[in-house]
Amino acid sequence: MKTVVANWKMNVGVRESVALARASLLTLRGRKVIPDLVICPPFVALSEVRKVVARSSANIGAQNMFWEPSGSHTGETSSRMLLELGVSHCLIGHSERRVQLGETDEMINKKVLHALSEQMTPILCVGESKEQRVAGDARAVVEAQLSSALRGVRLHTQGSLFVAYEPVWAIGTNDSASVGDVIEMHRFIRSVLERIFPDAPAGQFSILYGGSVDGENAYGFLREAEVDGVLVGSASVKINQFKEIVEAAAEVLEAQSA
Ligand code: PEP
Repeated sequence: MKTVVANWKMNVGVRESVALARASLLTLRGRKVIPDLVICPPFVALSEVRKVVARSSANIGAQNMFWEPSGSHTGETSSRMLLELGVSHCLIGHSERRVQLGETDEMINKKVLHALSEQMTPILCVGESKEQRVAGDARAVVEAQLSSALRGVRLHTQGSLFVAYEPVWAIGTNDSASVGDVIEMHRFIRSVLERIFPDAPAGQFSILYGGSVDGENAYGFLREAEVDGVLVGSASVKINQFKEIVEAAAEVLEAQSA
């Protein structure tokens, strides 16, 4: 399977989200085989977007969540509240939150544990900065992020896990990673996950690539066996671009099923 995750970030209000959700679903029309679609609107639009996707195969994701079910946590949103709104997936550890809001490895670990305990699928974002890549530390950084985020997780008894490899320097820059670098890092991530979860059945984790994916480069990533899908930011709110990305995923799946 191939998964396309749309991260609308803080770029659309409620009305625009409804229109974008409708248009995003239309991109699935008329295809023999369709990718899994996970739409992550801003919190304020979740309930309206839920109505739009209700009778479709698309899933709704949140862009963040807190690690307690309820309590005195002003401004936060719990997984239970999100589940009530039909949210099945949650972005955790996005680099914008790590950098802009000081989200720590410990907080990310608590969120991953909590999401899984609530049967929500975490989309754990990891990735190195430019300086770290230039210094030759990309793998070490990603390994450390995975190890700390997944501390205490027992995947064989809990749900599934998505890891999104998102090199920080490739996010929102039009400077995507090369397909070769993505394949290499995805193989490495898979080996780390297999070491952390030796008993996890095949297919329990999916590894996505994110970082300036657009209509032009999506097919190049998606056709690779190591790439289970893409996490799309900027291009997910440009419907023509998004349509091309979904079509690229559908083409790969159709070729696989032929
Ligand atoms: C993201 O924010 O997760 C992302 C991948 O953004 P962009 O596609 O704009 O690089």
